[in-house]
Amino acid sequence: MTIRLKNLAGLSRNELSAELNAMGEKPFRTKQLWHWIYHQGETNFDQMTSLSKSFRMALAERYEVRRPKISDTQTSKDQTKKWLIRFEDQQEAETVYIPENGRGAVCISSQVGCTLTCTFCRTGTQKLVRNLTAPEIVGQFMLARDFYGEWPTPTDGGRLISNIVMMGMGEPLLNYRNVVKALTIIMDNEGIALSKRRITLSTSGIVPVMHQCGEELGVNLAVSLHAVRDDLRDILVPINRRYPIADLLSACRTYPGANNARRITFEYVMLKGVNDSDADARELVRLLRNIPAKVNLIPFNAWEGAPYKCSSKTRMKSFAEILNASGYSAPIRIPRGRDILAACGQLKSATERTLNVKTVL
Ligand code: SAH
Ligand code: SF4
Repeated sequence: MTIRLKNLAGLSRNELSAELNAMGEKPFRTKQLWHWIYHQGETNFDQMTSLSKSFRMALAERYEVRRPKISDTQTSKDQTKKWLIRFEDQQEAETVYIPENGRGAVCISSQVGCTLTCTFCRTGTQKLVRNLTAPEIVGQFMLARDFYGEWPTPTDGGRLISNIVMMGMGEPLLNYRNVVKALTIIMDNEGIALSKRRITLSTSGIVPVMHQCGEELGVNLAVSLHAVRDDLRDILVPINRRYPIADLLSACRTYPGANNARRITFEYVMLKGVNDSDADARELVRLLRNIPAKVNLIPFNAWEGAPYKCSSKTRMKSFAEILNASGYSAPIRIPRGRDILAACGQLKSATERTLNVKTVL
């Protein structure tokens, strides 16, 4: 096995500064190198022309600036892209780009697989799970920027990759430290400089971490509610047995930074005959009282072996109308990338299989 040099992409400012310090470099070098890595997106030390030749050579002897590898790219007929990303230990996760009128969101994974087993989600059926590191999370974003040639960081606000949704594989609040580290790098004004207002983190409801997430990151919060009664949510989102609806909603009520201008998004997957009645919609209105909320109704995205069907259009409309009549915005999301299994809850990587094949060989 070849020994690879240490990767500088994905290090925090403090970590980068510690590396340079150990090389005997002055503190201002951190700022310079940070600019090259995260503002310019440069991966070749030789091209970092504002650095002295001797410093560039010293860096190249010790380090590299690497990205994870793209092992497969698929393009949907609606232009959604899905990349299968291979990390250095050969494990894989998926990243999705959803374009929309000259802008777009990258949907980033926080784990390989997911330890939670929501019964409507394909990611939850993947057995092999590990947390992604901060460099692996930032790396997904940087790869998307590479793909669309969006370097240096645009300063005029006209970005093709304008938003991040932490809605890929995994539960971001169960990999909280790495997610914080990665998003802090991404939000840094002298680098990728994406505003917290353009980042949305989706959680299945890891109640004890929610407040800290709002304080520390201040990103938009999306909560995967999906049911209005504990007996049903216990089945659909089993983490509900530990953090039931009342606790979840009280954490939403006190989420730092949420107000009428920055509402919490409640995601509600529409499952035929399961959670989609008018009575469910009325109960949802009651539960959301006093929370600055909007609702995203997500048509269920099917996958092989899934035990559910998507609600009919008329059912979804009737559900939405009840919410609208009580003053809640409740758009029925238009599914993106379904044809390439890139839509919400369809992601899964074949890491398990790949690894098994290797073991057999
Ligand atoms: N683990 C986090 C974030 C990733 S899932 C969470 O659960 O919130 C992103 C969103 O897709 C969540 O709201 C999730 O409930 C939803 N989802 C999962 N499977 C789905 C499916 N098959 N169809 C539609 N939405 C799904
Ligand atoms: Fe995990 Fe979210 Fe899927 Fe539930 S919906 S299994 S928390 S990725």
